[in-house]
Amino acid sequence: MSRSRVTIVLSQAPGKNPAKRALEESVVAALLLESDLEISVIPNLYDLGPDHTGRLFLGAVKGDMVVLSWIYPRAAFWLLDRDGIKGHFGETQLKPPVDEEEDGADTPVDKPEAIGPTGVIPDRHIYTLDLRDSNKHEAYVAEIKRISAECRDRRDLKAREKAANSPAIIQLGLSVREDQGVDAPRSPSAMGAFSPEALLTPAGRRWYPVIDYSRCTNCLECLDFCLFGVYGVDSIERILVENQDQCKKGCPACSRVCPQQAIIFPEYKSPAIAGAETGVVGGLKIDLSRLFGGDVGDALSAAVSERDRELVNDGRDAVGMAVGIPKRQTDKPLGPKDDLDRLVDDLDNLGL
Ligand code: SF4
Ligand code: SF4
Repeated sequence: MSRSRVTIVLSQAPGKNPAKRALEESVVAALLLESDLEISVIPNLYDLGPDHTGRLFLGAVKGDMVVLSWIYPRAAFWLLDRDGIKGHFGETQLKPPVDEEEDGADTPVDKPEAIGPTGVIPDRHIYTLDLRDSNKHEAYVAEIKRISAECRDRRDLKAREKAANSPAIIQLGLSVREDQGVDAPRSPSAMGAFSPEALLTPAGRRWYPVIDYSRCTNCLECLDFCLFGVYGVDSIERILVENQDQCKKGCPACSRVCPQQAIIFPEYKSPAIAGAETGVVGGLKIDLSRLFGGDVGDALSAAVSERDRELVNDGRDAVGMAVGIPKRQTDKPLGPKDDLDRLVDDLDNLGL
C-alpha cells in the first residue's frame, strides 16, 4: 500500500506532565505501526517562534494535515493560520466527553458576520485534534484513519472531475493514481529536510492572543484597548496581532472586551478564552457568556483591572476607564470584579 499523503503532526504538551507524555508516546507508537501513516513530533505549537524548525516544517507541508495538540481545535487552527499555515478547517468527529444526562446538547455560539481569513486559502484541509478529548490512543488512531480516508476520497473526486474536464487525459488514456490524485504536493518527509531531533529543538514559553477570523468583525476595539502595541492593521486595514511577544504574560484582558469572543489565549485557564468551541468542557455544561463575562460590566471591569496591573508593572500610570474603552460598553453599569476566574478556579478544584 502506498503511504498516505496526510501529514500528521503531534504538538507536545509544555512541561513534563508524565500522563500527557505517556499519551503522546502511545499515540506516536500506535501510528508508527500503521503502514500508511507518518507522524512527526514538535514542541508545543503555541511556543514555536518564526525560525523554529517545527514551524518551518509545518509551513513546508502542502497537503492535508492533522495536528494533535493540547490546545482547543479552534485555537490551534487560527494559531496556524496566523503563522501562514492555511487551509480549510477539517471537521473532526472526535469530541470532548459529554455528560450523559446532557446527551451532547452543546450550546452553539452564535456566529457573527465575520471578515474571514486573509489571503488565498490553499485547496487542502487542516484537522486539529485536542489530546484532552480522550486518554486512549485508539481514539486518535481511529479518527486519523477516518480523516485519511476522507482526504483520499476528496482527492479522488477532484481527480475524476479534473480528468472528466481534460480531453487530453481522456484521449491519451492516462490514469490518475487512486491514492495521489493530481498535482500531488510535496510532503516534508519526502523532502527529507527535517530531522526528528531538529523538530524537537526546545522552544521557550510564549504568550500572545490569537484571532479567530471566522468570528472577528474587524471592529478594532482590541486595537484601541491594548496599550502595549500588540495589535495592528494590515495593508487593507484588517486587524492582526502584529507584535505577538509584546503581550503581557498571563494577561487575557483584550479577550474580555472583544464583542465577538474572537480573541483566544490558548493557554488561559478559562475554556472560553482558551478557545473552547462550545459550552461542554470535561463533561460539564459551561455557560459561555458567563465565562467570558456575560455581564458586560463585569468583563470590562476585569479587563480594565488586568490592563492597569500590566501598566503599573511596566512603570506606567494606570488609566482605568479613561482610555480605549469600547464605545458600545460605556453606558453599561460596572459590576464588581468579575467572578469568571472564581468560577474557573472552582472547576479547577474539581480536578477538571
Ligand atoms: S475586538 Fe474582536 S471582533 Fe473586534 S477587531 Fe478585535 S478581534 Fe476582531
Ligand atoms: S492581553 Fe493585554 S497586553 Fe496582551 S494584547 Fe491583550 S490587552 Fe494587550
